[in-house]
Amino acid sequence: FRNGEPSEVKVFTPSETITFGQNHPVVVIAGPCSVESEEMIVDTALKVKAAGAKFLRGGAYKPRTSPYAFQGHGESALDWLATAKSVSGLGIITEVMDAAELEIISSVADILQIGARNMQNFSLLKKVGATNKPVFLKRGLSATIEDWLMSAEYILAAGNPNVILCERGIRTFDREYTRNTLDISAIPVLRNLTHLPIAIDPSHATGKSELVTSMALAAIAAGCDSLMVEVHPNPQKALSDGPQSLNFPNFEQFMKEITPLGKFF
Ligand code: PEP
Ligand code: MN
Repeated sequence: FRNGEPSEVKVFTPSETITFGQNHPVVVIAGPCSVESEEMIVDTALKVKAAGAKFLRGGAYKPRTSPYAFQGHGESALDWLATAKSVSGLGIITEVMDAAELEIISSVADILQIGARNMQNFSLLKKVGATNKPVFLKRGLSATIEDWLMSAEYILAAGNPNVILCERGIRTFDREYTRNTLDISAIPVLRNLTHLPIAIDPSHATGKSELVTSMALAAIAAGCDSLMVEVHPNPQKALSDGPQSLNFPNFEQFMKEITPLGKFF
């Protein structure tokens, strides 16, 4: 909980040191929901980097609602992320679902993502807390602010101070027009309660690519420190989360629209 200065999370990517925090530029993280092939992840990395993203996202292990849905390419996807990292110089963020994969994921990832569905997996939180990798902690589907901060506290208490909180929409009652409801008020509420950097994921929050830019603008206006956005070379063909993914021209346009509002470079 809040005690003094805003904290900074510094990440050493192959090309530069990026700092997440209140007194730093808004850090844009972009990439597909799932890493689908080496070609698509390298292509995406180069395109999002050219448009101004600082980190490449992409799931190797996917927490799908249905066990019959695509579960991610696992270790092969990690190899492809490593290639994308060396080709683009971007930092890598990818989800850890199981502590058994923590070591291999850590060999590629600069930031470990804990997904919404694992926000209260306390044994996993303790394990990422025992590493020195920055952790991107997504808010649970129905988690209160207090629940979420207590989960962050598990990581901090285990010795890892590098936590970024990510609001990604919470469950309300509409399932048709929005996938989740983006809790913009979480930004000023957290600002007052915690020193940790705050990220917003307008892609999972809305489930619809056409809503992503307006929600990102709202998030910047409310004071977020980072944005995570899903980008896919061909959203219609995506193996997961196509409807909420921006294509490359959409992402370029997105960056043009948000840049005047925030501090980016
Ligand atoms: C994701 O980032 O692709 C993801 C599964 O996010 P969340 O955990 O927020 O649903
Ligand atoms: Mn996704």
